[in-house]
Amino acid sequence: MRICIFFRTFALEMENIIILAIESSCDDTSAAVIRDGVLLSNVTASQSVHEEFGGVVPELASRAHQLNIVPVVDAALKRAGIQAKELSAIAFTRGPGLLGSLLVGTSFAKGLALANNIPLVEVNHLQAHILAHFITPAQSPDSPIASSPSTPSFPFLCLLVSGGNSQIVLVKSYRDMEIIGQTIDDAAGEAFDKCAKIMGLPYPGGPWIDRLAKEGNAEAFQFAKPNIPGYNYSFSGLKTSFLYFLRDNLKDNRNFIEENKADLCASLQKTIIDILINKLKKAAKDLKVTEIAVAGGVSANSGLREALLDLGRRHRWMVHIPPFSYTTDNAAMVCQAGYFKYLDGEFCPMDATPYAKTKI
Ligand code: ADP
Ligand code: MG
Repeated sequence: MRICIFFRTFALEMENIIILAIESSCDDTSAAVIRDGVLLSNVTASQSVHEEFGGVVPELASRAHQLNIVPVVDAALKRAGIQAKELSAIAFTRGPGLLGSLLVGTSFAKGLALANNIPLVEVNHLQAHILAHFITPAQSPDSPIASSPSTPSFPFLCLLVSGGNSQIVLVKSYRDMEIIGQTIDDAAGEAFDKCAKIMGLPYPGGPWIDRLAKEGNAEAFQFAKPNIPGYNYSFSGLKTSFLYFLRDNLKDNRNFIEENKADLCASLQKTIIDILINKLKKAAKDLKVTEIAVAGGVSANSGLREALLDLGRRHRWMVHIPPFSYTTDNAAMVCQAGYFKYLDGEFCPMDATPYAKTKI
């Protein structure tokens, strides 16, 4: 009962709303500050500790979050020129993600909210990726904050592609999102990362494949595409066929990967992009939606961006592509999602615990 009265009092304050957001769902510790819907700062510390393992090690991720969270939050507040006592609320990523990592951000957010006697706002990480399209950065000639080129109007379809998710989401409003299709096994980012690992490229492999693909021939090799009904995706078969293809060719030529790396990357990237675009195109046609957006770490891929713009040109659909800084995990998108929730007066109890898996 006391909690309700506490939250209701704060919900009345609708001007000079300053929210600090914390993102810690995987291997990026990030904090951002927003004032009245304008992003003032966005600071991210990525964790290099996982590189030698070729993937994120959950226990190491939680420890790195513990080390990074204080300096990252401090830097976000300083860059924004805001003191903790001026904050109206703390937003945090509650899930989905790695539980240990989420626990660090959740506990820190609770501590900060309690210490400053302000409410907590929980944010769904996947919704935050999509709402990154609504980030409005503070305008300053030397601002390091990237500005969003265009804002989608509702309803739009969002291709959400990251290390852990591949979904087509029908976004009807800030709050109302419906998953139209999703991967039944691996995510697109996982396919990039695992295939990169097979080729001996560093983690995360997506950006490496993207870079090497620019010098290769995308028609050099053919890989099987899945035949999945509806708007769902599958990437595990592609990963396996890529592995077997390399294994067979390495039998005849032990330098096969080195000699064909750019062509392999270009062909693999084209296959992943074709799979993603075909389902998205089908969904947009069937649902008669003419605005398309892309979000998540894989949306940084230059081939995917080009393919989406091309799709838009051919069908006269509006295509929205986020600035690079809001594609991989960042707190700016959590701030934006938290700000919308704050305006709706939707706060979170202090005993909220993180969740590893969820729907949108
Ligand atoms: P998650 O939230 O699931 O941890 P992110 O949204 O942080 O994932 O995205 C990370 C994923 O994005 C990784 O799989 C990485 O390889 C992929 N990625 C990042 N940049 C690129 C790129 N340029 N091309 C392809 N994949 C990329
Ligand atoms: Mg993410």
